[in-house]
This record gives sequence, C-alpha cells and structure tokens, in this order.
Amino acid sequence: MELRRDPITQSWVILGQGEALAAAPEECPLEPAKIEKLRSILTWPAEGAWQVRVLPHPHPLYHVEGDPGRLAEGMYDKMVALGAHEVVVETPLHDKRMSQFSDEEIERVLCVWASRIADLKKDARFKYVSVFKNQGALAGEEWSHAHSQVTATIFVPRRIKYELSSAHEWFKDKERCIFCDTVRQEEKQGKRIVDVQGDYYALCPYASRVPYEVWLMHRPHNHLFEQPRPGSNRRQLAALLGRVLRRLEKMSLAYHLVVHTSPNTKNKKGELAGYWKTLADDYHWHIEILPIVEKTSKSYSIKEVYFNAELPEQAAANLRALDPNS
Ligand SMILES: [Zn+2]
Ligand SMILES: [Zn+2]
Ligand SMILES: [Zn+2]
Repeated sequence: MELRRDPITQSWVILGQGEALAAAPEECPLEPAKIEKLRSILTWPAEGAWQVRVLPHPHPLYHVEGDPGRLAEGMYDKMVALGAHEVVVETPLHDKRMSQFSDEEIERVLCVWASRIADLKKDARFKYVSVFKNQGALAGEEWSHAHSQVTATIFVPRRIKYELSSAHEWFKDKERCIFCDTVRQEEKQGKRIVDVQGDYYALCPYASRVPYEVWLMHRPHNHLFEQPRPGSNRRQLAALLGRVLRRLEKMSLAYHLVVHTSPNTKNKKGELAGYWKTLADDYHWHIEILPIVEKTSKSYSIKEVYFNAELPEQAAANLRALDPNS
C-alpha cells in the first residue's frame, strides 16, 4: 500500500490492492469467542464482562512500521501507508445495533473513541486520528456486527483540511468560531434543529450534502472531542445520538458516521505548520452522520457537486416528527 498525492487538489489517495479487498468471511470474525483470543488494545470495562473491545484491524489500510518521509517521483509526492488502523467492537452481541444500545452503552463507545484518539495523538508522527462508523451494506460496512474504526494517518484528510482552513479564515476575519456561529444561527432560526439534549444539538446542516444529513454539535466551544470541557456531560451526547439514530433508521439502516476533531498538534510538519496558533479557538469538534436513503441514492451519483433533493428544513421537520424512543 502506498499514499500518493494529487499535486493539483493536494489530496492523498491510498493505492494498492492490500488485503482490504479480500472477500468477507462466512462467519462473523467479531464474535467474542474469536476476538478474546486476539490482542486487545483496549477493553471496557477492563474487569468482568466487556462491552467494548478495540483490536488491530485484521486487514489494515495503514501499518505502524516505517518512516513517514516523503519520496519524490518527478513532480509527484508519495509516502508509505504509515499509520494505525483499529476496529472498535461496540458490543459482544452480534445482532445489536448502536441505535438499540442504552444511553450508557453509547456513552461507553464514545469514551472509547475519545480514549483511542487521545492515545494515538501521543505519537507525533500522526497528523490526524479519524473515527468513523459505516453501518449497513450500502454504507460499505465490513462486518454486520456493530463496530467502528479508528485510523491514525500521517496526513490530514481532505475534508478536515477544508474545514480547518475555512475555520481559520473565519476566525482571522471575525475573531469568532465558525461552528459556534453556526450553532447560534441554527438556534435562532430553529427550523433545521432535529433535537436538543442539554447543550448538545442535532441539526440538518444548511447545505446538507445528502438527504437527512445530521450533525451533532456541542454549544460550548471546544476543539477536542477527546477532551471534554469540565462539566460537560457525555451521557447527554449519548442520549442525543441514540435518539437521532433511531429516527434516521426509520429512513434508512445504512449510514456513515464520522467524528471531526482537531488534528494532532504534536506534529509540526507540513502544510499546516504555523497554523496551530489559533487552532484551539477556531476549530470545534462535531459528529457528522450521512444516511444513505436508497430511493434518492441518485444524490451520490454526481460526485463533483452534491445534489440533494431533500431540503434540510423539510428533513429536520420530518425527523422531529418521528418517535425517537422506538
Ligand atoms: Zn458477530
Ligand atoms: Zn466553537
Ligand atoms: Zn466536519
């Protein structure tokens, strides 16, 4: 596997066959009897019956060995696919989806995500730690057993780079966080808000890319998902996430979920060096959920420009009308 950078868009692409494309095994490889024999990176709770267990990915896209240096190939840049790739098994039960977890069980998964991000950021080679969850065959899930994935990479993913540079520009101009401004504007208008729990908001973003796209945002400013502000209550975030997932699953069982948090400030190299001075003030963690609604999957066919037939104001109204408790 290698990473190549498109010199025009500056996006990194993972290339190579790898093992990732191997056919899915017949039997679920995430069953407790199987994974208890493997090395665990983190088990929660550590004693007694576990709920969440983190393992190295059996067919990783990134490997921890190697030198993060770039190699030139004429005008092009490439790197070895150095990084970490982990699987978070969210429950020992094969048929239980996250939407069916109790608030406390969802909170445990959120805590494990945070703990893996914080731990991987100790390695200064890594520029960014991604946490994502693909549920459903349409979302490209690897196994049907409830799980999420963590990757640590030596580059910042393209969408995060876009967010960082916009947030930086906004802050330079207005001395305010663009995400805090978004929450304030949405609160004022109200029409795209799906649900609220404490200081946590679930909303359909103004320029939703896909039908029923939902972001979860915390009103108090904080750039680090992995380091909650004193006094914040992750159980409330868990409760809100559970309710949002139960609503969304009435539309579609398939979705992508991704946590967006700050890049690793221990890494001072590369194109974002010098940027870090205002990072803590201008970036703001959030969770993005992109459902895959089959009947309108046409939205995905035009990749250059997103086309979404469902207005977010209508999507939020439809989601609000659904029962979040069943
Ligand atoms: Zn299973
Ligand atoms: Zn903010
Ligand atoms: Zn984002």
